[in-house]
Amino acid sequence: MAKAKSRYQKPKGTADILPGDSELWQKVEAVARETFHQYGYSEIRTPMFEEFNVYSRNVGETSDIVTKEMYDFDDKGGRHIALRPEGTAGVVRSYVENKLFGPEYPKPYKMFYIGPMFRYERPQSGRQRQFTQIGCEALNSESPQIDAEVILEALTFFKRLGINNLRVAINTLGDRESREAYHAALVNYLTPYKDELSADSQTRLEKNPLRVLDSKDEHDQAIVANAPSIMDSLNEYSSNYFAQVKSLLDDFEIDYVVDPTMVRGLDYYTHTIFEIMSDSKAFGGGYVTVCGGGRYNGLIGQLGGPEEEGGIGYGLGFERLLLLLEEENPAFIPQPSLDLFFVSANHTGDQYAFKLMQKLREQGLAVDKDYQGIKLGKQIKEAERKNSRYFVVVGDREVETEELEIKSVTDNQRQRVQVKDLLDDPEKYLK
Ligand code: ATP
Ligand code: MG
Repeated sequence: MAKAKSRYQKPKGTADILPGDSELWQKVEAVARETFHQYGYSEIRTPMFEEFNVYSRNVGETSDIVTKEMYDFDDKGGRHIALRPEGTAGVVRSYVENKLFGPEYPKPYKMFYIGPMFRYERPQSGRQRQFTQIGCEALNSESPQIDAEVILEALTFFKRLGINNLRVAINTLGDRESREAYHAALVNYLTPYKDELSADSQTRLEKNPLRVLDSKDEHDQAIVANAPSIMDSLNEYSSNYFAQVKSLLDDFEIDYVVDPTMVRGLDYYTHTIFEIMSDSKAFGGGYVTVCGGGRYNGLIGQLGGPEEEGGIGYGLGFERLLLLLEEENPAFIPQPSLDLFFVSANHTGDQYAFKLMQKLREQGLAVDKDYQGIKLGKQIKEAERKNSRYFVVVGDREVETEELEIKSVTDNQRQRVQVKDLLDDPEKYLK
């Protein structure tokens, strides 16, 4: 018989996370939550859509996100809405709206989020239209220690997942004054080449010249290769600040490279920016960014909060992280399992097992049985397939004597136990 083709398919660039896979997601999330908690971060959950301007005015006019990738629409009330393409703008919007910068709140105010983001991109491995980011934001404070800590936190998280071969690239964009000086130096350098630049870069040269450094166009890259370095435009404060961040990373023996051409896609960055990359086989050659972030002094003011406040954060791509994890540390992948599987020899045994099962579940054990009346041998196979540690056969004799023989699924171990004793302390026999 031909298999029926399903009538509907998921939208392009989305994924179903099925039972069996979701366990891995949960395990990774648990490591994230625990790690962030230890670094003093607390979870924030903001809406999955915001007023379009939250992104268009704050993520950056020339960023790929705003120019090409936004899922935006007018709702039935005529409001211009966008599905969130990234986490920071919404988190900062919420921070400002809820006045979390008041004197009663800690500085820095540390938050993390885990959730779906939406970008209209060409789907490929590790690039989806709905994808998931884990992100952290430390708002309302400026200190090289916080910048270093944020990088350390992300690396600690990777390490706990058993992912160690990472490339950490850092750069600084300096404070506003330095950034403006660099802006001028770059425009000076690039303007004579204007006609040679790609169309995209010509627009960027006018709106945000730093992003020309980001161009993927080969000829642009050749021109950019001789551009002045940001390092020459840093004022004393910015250059000291960056030196301190580096020195802290050195103290922790973090193996990083300084990449003065890295600008990152978003317009709001100042001072420290960083990317964590991997050239794992998982990505089929070349370095792929799994985590990117930086300091964004000015963003809070831009969204209506106190002008002088800064923040730093990063976003980490969950799906790319999982590709990496599956390649680099497959042992981390959890196998769903049961404590006990009931095998019934007949109808009486089955009914008895059904009741016992509920009592054991109430005590916190994971137990299951067959519901289809399949043959005894097949039920035992099912115990194996479900990855149960133990199974027990229940028939007339067990019901009568109220004694069970619990057998290990993997070896020949067996133990006889009174039902009463089992219910008294199930862990003793089953864990
Ligand atoms: P890229 O250069 O790969 O497009 P980006 O600079 O747009 O990345 P960020 O906005 O910094 O990415 O987002 C942080 C992380 O989120 C990325 O490093 C990546 O791991 C992940 N990410 C970004 N876009 C996608 C996507 N479309 N699908 C899956 N993961 C993504
Ligand atoms: Mg992108």
